[in-house]
Amino acid sequence: MDPAVADPRAALLAERERVLTELAENPVESPGQMTYGSQAAAATHVFEQQRDLALRDHNRQHLSAIDAALARLDDGTYGRCTACHQPIAPGRLEALPWAALCIDCQRSSRR
Ligand SMILES: [Zn+2]
Repeated sequence: MDPAVADPRAALLAERERVLTELAENPVESPGQMTYGSQAAAATHVFEQQRDLALRDHNRQHLSAIDAALARLDDGTYGRCTACHQPIAPGRLEALPWAALCIDCQRSSRR
């Protein structure tokens, strides 16, 4: 195990906990539940709701990336790119313990 990534499982579990807390702290109200004092308040609320939904969406995706990384730890493929199967740079794993792709594959997947 590379010393740069001392304990990826602990890092992943901590991050998982953080995301779950964030999801729990930001319950999304179902539309039509609120009554508004003004159009402006309604518009603000809609904006906030969309922002919260985007954040939630992001957190859900993040959570599945973390879960996938934990699964890779269990099956021994952690630290390897899921696309080209080359080792992911330790510095990248340290910054993003849930990274599934090496930097090259990440770049080409965004193209
Ligand atoms: Zn790759």
